[in-house]
Amino acid sequence: MTTPTPQQRVHGALLGLAAGDALGATLEFMPPEEIRRRHGVHTEITGGGAFGWRPGQGTDDTDLTIAVARAYADGYQLGAVTEHFLRWYRGRPRDIGGMTAASLGRIADGEEPLAAGAAATAAARGGGAGAGAGNGSLMRALPTGLARSHPDRCAREAAEISAVTHADPRCVHACVAYTAIVSALVEGTPVPEALQAGRRHHRCHHRRPPRRPRRRPGRAHPLGAAAGIRPGDQRARPGAARPAQPPPQRGAATGMTSDSARERDSFVWTDPDTGLLDQIGRPAAR
Ligand SMILES: [Mg+2]
Repeated sequence: MTTPTPQQRVHGALLGLAAGDALGATLEFMPPEEIRRRHGVHTEITGGGAFGWRPGQGTDDTDLTIAVARAYADGYQLGAVTEHFLRWYRGRPRDIGGMTAASLGRIADGEEPLAAGAAATAAARGGGAGAGAGNGSLMRALPTGLARSHPDRCAREAAEISAVTHADPRCVHACVAYTAIVSALVEGTPVPEALQAGRRHHRCHHRRPPRRPRRRPGRAHPLGAAAGIRPGDQRARPGAARPAQPPPQRGAATGMTSDSARERDSFVWTDPDTGLLDQIGRPAAR
């Protein structure tokens, strides 16, 4: 077997996420003992589940992963991520997490995205131990690790995308560690070393003492202590998101950008041969 290229790894990661989501859709919200009792080991993509999915259909995990990926295809701005989230939200998805719904509802009403994420997180924390730290941002975090090879940039963007809906440090750090691992794997780093990359970021961010929330403009945002998010980064406003640079030209999508050979900014998302995002995002045939 030949060694896969980074582009093939990116394709494989996106397809793997979509396939895994479609496989797991059958079991969503089911406790482990019920899964064992009803399915044993679940290995076939059969659809069904809590929302009556068609076989092969993805859930919110796939939908929001594609939303993040589309923002990277546009050159990445947090505002573009939020715009793609809102587009999905306005389509009234049947499967949407509580904190995601709470935050996107606020953003749809005009609230600034990171403030909305903070408010949704704070509200969810009232729900008892573990509340406010769901996996709703981790499940969609993959594209940042696929698109970014610079560790600090990867961490910063993973953190701010998480904080749009899931600002709890447990969620933010999980996204930072996970995307660090993904980024290393796409580069061809052996698994043990890739895991070390995730641990390194995790430790790095956890060494910083927790900060008290600050609300004055111009100061570090309380959500951003882990990854240096500052109020100036909060560009996302409904209707205001524009790509900072023109989308990559089709056909130019197979190489790395010339000004940043290590950065995987604009390469495979809109692959002209496969249209991968469109194919993954297409509803399964009835
Ligand atoms: Mg889901």
